[in-house]
Amino acid sequence: MSIDDLPPLRQVIASHGLAARKSLGQNFLLDLNLTAKIARQAGDLSECDVLEIGPGPGGLTRGLLSEGARRILAVEKDARCLPALDEIARAAPGRLQVINADALELDPLAHLTPPIRVVANLPYNVGTELLIRWLTPPAWPPFWQSLTLMFQREVADRIVAQPGGKAYGRLAVLAQWRCDARIVMTLPPEAFTPPPKISSAVVHLKALPAPRFDADQKTLEMVVARAFNQRRKMLRAALKGLAPDIEDRLIAAGIKPTDRAETVGLEQFCALARQMKK
Ligand code: SAM
Repeated sequence: MSIDDLPPLRQVIASHGLAARKSLGQNFLLDLNLTAKIARQAGDLSECDVLEIGPGPGGLTRGLLSEGARRILAVEKDARCLPALDEIARAAPGRLQVINADALELDPLAHLTPPIRVVANLPYNVGTELLIRWLTPPAWPPFWQSLTLMFQREVADRIVAQPGGKAYGRLAVLAQWRCDARIVMTLPPEAFTPPPKISSAVVHLKALPAPRFDADQKTLEMVVARAFNQRRKMLRAALKGLAPDIEDRLIAAGIKPTDRAETVGLEQFCALARQMKK
């Protein structure tokens, strides 16, 4: 049997008893045209290994295979999904490895050969945590070339946000410092079974070869976390505890001490991180 001959996903869900569980963030995509379209947002996968988190009954997995992914490592926490995923693996010999594990606990690198791209319809409860881990590895460039990820629309907006709005914060700075980040698709609740309460969006993040602006990662993370923790305060107050001469350092970084975090751009935050290291 080839992947095109596999039964429709509704039938797979019924025959394997895969009623969606809220606790695992299960909102499934059943339209294979849609999952193929999401897979295409990740670019040409024919020379790549793909890491997929949370394949569920395998809708996106099938989209990735039909779009030509060289090999997929799929990490799924829910053991109920394994028989359905095994059927897909048998229809695409040598191209799909499934690991039954919590993606937050597993180091997938031992099972992947570069170049690697990550594509996932992430469980909402672990999505942001995984993204932050992928954005803050010990060394850059990271193990992945790109991340193509489904998020709640509100989280997607925070990743691509520009200074000046409520969505702009730590996630935007971390993502845009070393990646090109854009929203490539938006999906209404009805695209999923069962439909969630909110809309979703696919974000594509492409790793840059080097950071846009020079800064020490830990210092930048710390400054940005502090600044946005008290985002309504002026920076001279929000960052007061960091250094006695914080006003001088802000000025040296080209930032007015009376500015608030949400008006400060990426380049200025990097300049401030460099000032804090002095
Ligand atoms: N990819 C499928 C699709 O698009 O229809 C399912 C997406 S559903 C939003 C999220 C999937 O992630 C579920 O299959 C769920 O069981 C799985 N999951 C939840 N938490 C997980 C974790 N910590 N590690 C791995 N998989 C997880």
